[in-house]
Amino acid sequence: MAQISAEVDYVVPRSDVTYTFDSGTPPVLEIEPGAIVLFETQDCFGGQIETEADLGTAIDMAYANPATGPVAIRGAEPGDSLIAEILEIRPGSRGFTTVFPGIGQLASDCAGPVTKVIPIEHGMVHFSDRVRFPVRPMMGVLGVAPDAEPVATLHPGQHGGNLDERFHRAGTTIYFPVRHAGALFAAGDMHASMGDGEICGTGVEVAGEVIIRFDLLKNKMAGFPVSEMRESWIAHGVAGQYAGALRVACHEAAALLTREWNLSMEEAFMLLSVRGDAGVCQSCQPCAVASTARMVVPKFTAIPGPFA
Ligand code: CA
Ligand code: CA
Repeated sequence: MAQISAEVDYVVPRSDVTYTFDSGTPPVLEIEPGAIVLFETQDCFGGQIETEADLGTAIDMAYANPATGPVAIRGAEPGDSLIAEILEIRPGSRGFTTVFPGIGQLASDCAGPVTKVIPIEHGMVHFSDRVRFPVRPMMGVLGVAPDAEPVATLHPGQHGGNLDERFHRAGTTIYFPVRHAGALFAAGDMHASMGDGEICGTGVEVAGEVIIRFDLLKNKMAGFPVSEMRESWIAHGVAGQYAGALRVACHEAAALLTREWNLSMEEAFMLLSVRGDAGVCQSCQPCAVASTARMVVPKFTAIPGPFA
């Protein structure tokens, strides 16, 4: 692994993982707003895949998507947003991707399970002898404790979790709706690269390190995590199928435009139609994991971000 940056205040080791986002899970660390935390993350199967002979069918899914944490942020209260700024993502040197029988958009065209081990060297993903491309590191699982029942880290929801948002990369800031004191943030499911849709159900799955700076926005939150990039912001939605997830993401974006910026619903509807970019985060259907969608809204002078 790369050397730890000097500015990191805390390191959470990859032995400190949880498999549920749950208000009852005791935090492994408590920090002040402003702190910078390095999370060591396991790969999405907790190291169960070592060679291409280790097939997805043999994986114990009880240990899927380990998320490092949870970390409590002092002063975070229900109704606030937890601000998580991704400063750096460092994938390890060995990734993999898999075909599972019955899962994903091309499942019926595939003969059986396949595991592909993928070396990651010098910023390049070595997909095969013939195909390689630059890394595009992102975090599949980032979230906080949900409103009510615990949610397995395999699933997405209003708390975040397995959103598989490709834009959750270095430089992006995410506003998580805080529903329990301390927020209880955890991170995992790093991908050295993942395409929109993640159609076979896995990206280039890899263990690694992610460095995040935390802060709080008091007394303001959206329904789902909202992500902010330099020139745009993103509303999210989750549902069993992509069409439903997109509808939720549209409602989320419109709610922010009407509530924070006083657009009428009709004006928000038309603005999102003419300048918003709808998209798929993850839809590896058929699958037991719900689909996730995004609505990307550019920043305008009059609407410079998701929150006032
Ligand atoms: Ca994922
Ligand atoms: Ca994954």
